[in-house]
Amino acid sequence: MKASQFLISTLKEAPADAEVVSHRLMTRAGMIKKLGAGIYTYMPMGLRVIRKVEAIVREEMNRAGAIECTMPVVQPAELWQETGRFEKMGPELLRIKDRHERDFIVQPTSEEVVTDIARQEFRSYKQLPRNLYQIQTKFRDERRPRFGLMRGREFIMKDAYSFDRDAASAKASYERMAQAYRRIFDRFGLRYRAVAADSGAIGGDLSEEFQVIAATGEDAIVYCPDSDYAANLEKAEALAPRSDRPAACAALVRTPTPGKSTCPDVAQLLGVPLATTVKSIVLATDRLDGAGQVAGTQIWLLLLRGDHDMNEVKVAKLPGLDAGFRFATAPEIVEHFGAKPGYLGPVGLKRPVQVVADRDVAVMADWICGANEEDFHLTGVNWGRDLPEPAVVADIRNVIEGDPSPDGKGPLAIERGIEVGHVFYLGTKYSRAMNATFLDEAGKPQFMEMGCYGIGITRLPAAAIEQNHDERGIIWPDAIAPFTVVICPIGMDRSAAVREAAETLHDRLAASGVDVLLDDRGERPGAMFADWELIGVPHRVVISDRGLGEGQLEYQHRRDSAATKVAASGIVDFLQ
Ligand code: ATP
Ligand code: MG
Ligand code: MG
Ligand code: MG
Repeated sequence: MKASQFLISTLKEAPADAEVVSHRLMTRAGMIKKLGAGIYTYMPMGLRVIRKVEAIVREEMNRAGAIECTMPVVQPAELWQETGRFEKMGPELLRIKDRHERDFIVQPTSEEVVTDIARQEFRSYKQLPRNLYQIQTKFRDERRPRFGLMRGREFIMKDAYSFDRDAASAKASYERMAQAYRRIFDRFGLRYRAVAADSGAIGGDLSEEFQVIAATGEDAIVYCPDSDYAANLEKAEALAPRSDRPAACAALVRTPTPGKSTCPDVAQLLGVPLATTVKSIVLATDRLDGAGQVAGTQIWLLLLRGDHDMNEVKVAKLPGLDAGFRFATAPEIVEHFGAKPGYLGPVGLKRPVQVVADRDVAVMADWICGANEEDFHLTGVNWGRDLPEPAVVADIRNVIEGDPSPDGKGPLAIERGIEVGHVFYLGTKYSRAMNATFLDEAGKPQFMEMGCYGIGITRLPAAAIEQNHDERGIIWPDAIAPFTVVICPIGMDRSAAVREAAETLHDRLAASGVDVLLDDRGERPGAMFADWELIGVPHRVVISDRGLGEGQLEYQHRRDSAATKVAASGIVDFLQ
């Protein structure tokens, strides 16, 4: 590929709404272009990455015996009424009408359609097990589409569905998929963890999420460094014994600050940027005078231990701040704040928050909250349990770092992750609802046992970037890089030798199957290098007259701090 025949459109600035690094870098690298909230064009450079992700997933799905098909994006509502999901699914399901006023949906997944196929096609036990999959556009009208491709409304998912004759066989199918997922995520070259997830009403342990480890992840995962115990927070909580630990463990620190309290000042005070994810919520309080005016010169920070659903909460990041903090119990906090009126407000939050503790905390009702903006405060903040439906919930968890792991092998640690895949044993939930039966050996109809298996194809590149970037841009793992090698000729328009060497190298690499791009745009070296560092191509070869004079080229990996000289004659072998 030659740059002059491709579309390279890098930007200096990221859009203002881009909160996480992957969103910023994908936009700046010209990989995605926003069309509407959670709706993006995959630009040529981005599509190359997506296609590589797809290819790996497809290869491993096929290897595991799954069969590819493509189901419609727009699906008649009748099927969804059979399972009740047309009504039950709520506003995330995009419902549309055609010209005859008939109801349709845009697929968020495809259990109904695939079960409809199965009940027509798989009539005998001899046709089972079978696994059908597609790599196809999905639409979910997410409450908060954000972070670019990470949580889009329109996105690409690989969704596979297994059909088996009995539970034992279905579990084997599930295991085969879980194995395939390990191979897939190993191939992507990312750090990830397979964690136990809640399998919902059907029970059992057969639900795992594949989480790419990243500080900006929306999910919290609980693991034991000394064993292979790992679960998502919800699952870990469900299993955790309810101890007599105070429900709201918190650290209190008393910090003097002049003047009025404005929470962004808290972040400044601590020298930390406002960030979207962190394990703790920072609350600021002011001392009030009798008339309810801010009289105080102090801010109280309340550091909740454990982990919280951060979907709605902007918090300040507090690296290393635990030192010197005193941990207070919920009753202490209640006593402290209960003794005098006060303000209570998470940083950056502009709506009332209710901090829901699961037990033994007296309800603290109708606090004044906020100080998020100068002279701006909120009322109606509640703290406690059995509270009415809150506007925002910051749930105090029952599992915290240092708790013993359920397998008894060490203390638990908590880190953040990005859910990139999910495998799930469904049992007969859908086959019963849709009467999907096959005839067993005795000629008796039986409900098919099912499993479903998703991978967020377009979320994956974003997760990869969250894990692999530096101040200059993206650093793609080879497996999913848009191009693996970029050739940067210096002075190609002036030097016939450079042009010839660059083109020859390009052709030779291309012929031996390397995904190579020759930057023949005639950019100045600085601008050219900056572009490729932003785009994140892992291997760069620089060709110049000076190097050629010595029979050498310059090679630099995206992670290297300096270039290495490589003999021009040996470069093809070197790159393979
Ligand atoms: P999340 O918890 O992030 O909302 P989910 O549990 O609702 O995801 P699943 O129904 O398990 O998602 O779908 C399978 C996979 O599809 C997920 O593991 C994720 O990688 C991807 N995915 C889900 N929602 C989105 C989205 N809005 N944008 C991009 N990818 C998504
Ligand atoms: Mg979801
Ligand atoms: Mg999830
Ligand atoms: Mg999921």
